[in-house]
Amino acid sequence: MLLCDFHIHTTYSDGSVELRKAIDIFGQAGFDAIAITDHVVSGDNSFGKLAHRFKYSVTANNFNQYMSHIKEEAKRAYDKYGMLVIAGVEITKNRLSVNDSAHILIVDVKEFIPACLSYEEIFLEAKSQKALIIACHPHYMSGTGDRDTLFLWNNRGKYARYIDAWEIANRDDVFNVVSLGKYPHIANSDFHKPKHLFSWKTLLNCVNDIDSIKQCIRHNKGVAITLFRN
Ligand code: ZN
Ligand code: ZN
Repeated sequence: MLLCDFHIHTTYSDGSVELRKAIDIFGQAGFDAIAITDHVVSGDNSFGKLAHRFKYSVTANNFNQYMSHIKEEAKRAYDKYGMLVIAGVEITKNRLSVNDSAHILIVDVKEFIPACLSYEEIFLEAKSQKALIIACHPHYMSGTGDRDTLFLWNNRGKYARYIDAWEIANRDDVFNVVSLGKYPHIANSDFHKPKHLFSWKTLLNCVNDIDSIKQCIRHNKGVAITLFRN
């Protein structure tokens, strides 16, 4: 099976590790496929403005550079480690209330998607780009205080039809609501620093190319999760 992680941050947003170094960490650990998913933060509220000011967000201005850097590194990763690197973003809608906050991974993104769009607009744009839509850490997490992101779970009746898979595990947390709700699932590290390599991951029973991976996750057959430890 393919050892995969589809939720990785770098210094393009709030990760502590530069893109090249992050790719080497995963390549040396024997991963088959990963997605780089730096935050795209909405600039329409104070959280977002702060994030933009401190450069904790990919923006419309540097998106093309972000994408071409990932493409260049993906080639190096494939040659050096046989590892597939997919470009993605984490659309980040932080609001004052955890009930109104949501983070969404867009895996295999092609064009910039502003985080200030409505949920429906974001999902339709991602679909038109044939990207995967993943609901991140959709329930209560450990050690996050008031930073949980419950909007998509609370509104799953309305939005689940757009979502290709939900994170059933994120780093050290497991969300049993996802399995109880029988939603398609994957598990990711939400990598921000090197120690986050050791966390929940996805195993996929498919060929190692981007279309097969997307299809495997969408059908959610041959998907397993594993706790990757040192
Ligand atoms: Zn997040
Ligand atoms: Zn994240």
